[in-house]
Amino acid sequence: MEIKKVYYIEGDGIGPEIFSAAKMVIDRAVEKEFNGEKKIEWIEVLAGEKAYKETGSYLPEDTLKTLKEEAEIAIKGPLTTPVGTGFRSLNVTLRQTFDLYACIRPVRYFNGLETPVKHPELVNMVIFRENTEDVYAGIEWEALSSEAKKIIDFMKSELGVNIDEKAAIGIKPITEFGSKRLIRKAIRYAIENNRKSVTLMHKGNIMKFTEGAFRNWGYEVMEEDEFKDKCVKEEDASLDEKRIIIKDRIADNMFQQVLTRPAEYDVIATTNLNGDYISDALAAQVGGLGLAPGANIGDNLALFEPTHGSVPKRAGTDTANPCSLILSGAMMLEYMGWKGAGKRIEDAIEKAIAKKEVTQDLARLMPGAKSVGCKRFGEIIAENL
Ligand code: NAD
Repeated sequence: MEIKKVYYIEGDGIGPEIFSAAKMVIDRAVEKEFNGEKKIEWIEVLAGEKAYKETGSYLPEDTLKTLKEEAEIAIKGPLTTPVGTGFRSLNVTLRQTFDLYACIRPVRYFNGLETPVKHPELVNMVIFRENTEDVYAGIEWEALSSEAKKIIDFMKSELGVNIDEKAAIGIKPITEFGSKRLIRKAIRYAIENNRKSVTLMHKGNIMKFTEGAFRNWGYEVMEEDEFKDKCVKEEDASLDEKRIIIKDRIADNMFQQVLTRPAEYDVIATTNLNGDYISDALAAQVGGLGLAPGANIGDNLALFEPTHGSVPKRAGTDTANPCSLILSGAMMLEYMGWKGAGKRIEDAIEKAIAKKEVTQDLARLMPGAKSVGCKRFGEIIAENL
């Protein structure tokens, strides 16, 4: 029997409930697909509120050490981050500590769901979001702090730039290295998965040397030996083009394009903040965050997690939708090379939705549907594997 270790963090808020449902479905899918010849060994590592209660630290050294020294594959529930004050996001810390530079978020429609748009079935996109740079690098200083004042003084004296002396300051680093490695992953994915296009989403008309450079570096990547015969620029593409079409769109336009022309977009490669925004917007188009999985991939560790947060208002109420974490598990199984088990999970979710017994976030969008709890929805999905 093949046994693979998967390290897990339950998460805060709805985390423990959706994790328990997801683990059950993932185990059952593996068992069904491989008739007991493969199995996951689950190893818990602590982070978030549970870690704080047990160790006094939100992200204990032990967790970092285990993930660094032992783990290749991990999966986590959402972790709460205070807004405007308090500690820095644990999610961002994990992504940066382990250099999980590619955040991959597939968005697809499941038959049977009613959604806010007329043709959700035209949405089938995969977002590749740069995960370590941009304003998420966490380089910012409070208004009136001595650090902010130093920066403002420096900008004035050395660079002749006037900034209001009461301004808060944030820094947006974007590198060629960081942008290119993310864009390479996106193009490779497009080639391996027979996708049609990769769109570079940026705000380069305004932020020319950060967002604009991201776009330019993207076009440089397509000229590299690995890609030059397999990719073509949009303006040079033929009508029945077989190569991957590389195009770019300005971020604000991109938001309307995915609503008005969803069939024209496929893989999207973008900077950190844009990627965060477009992920939730696209998830809404196909039925909401409860169905939005994701992965944070680096060269040594892959950490799978839902796109959504800890939904504190639903914690402990057994009403959250576990699908985003279950689908993150499906991505994980495919990534592990346990092909078939992930697809089996996606099909089971589709069948469960067709039976119209779903969690309240989906029931709300489906006339005649019955609302069931998180645990029960997990069981229904498992029954359909
Ligand atoms: P959220 O994603 O937790 O919730 C937004 C809304 O989406 C909810 O009010 C709910 O209506 C809906 N929703 C999301 N997931 C759902 C599910 N599984 N089932 C049913 N409905 C669901 O976003 P928020 O309220 O902005 O953030 C709450 C906390 O989560 C914050 O502390 C934030 O920092 C954190 N967060 C963590 C992550 C992460 O762990 N990667 C990501 C985003 C936010």
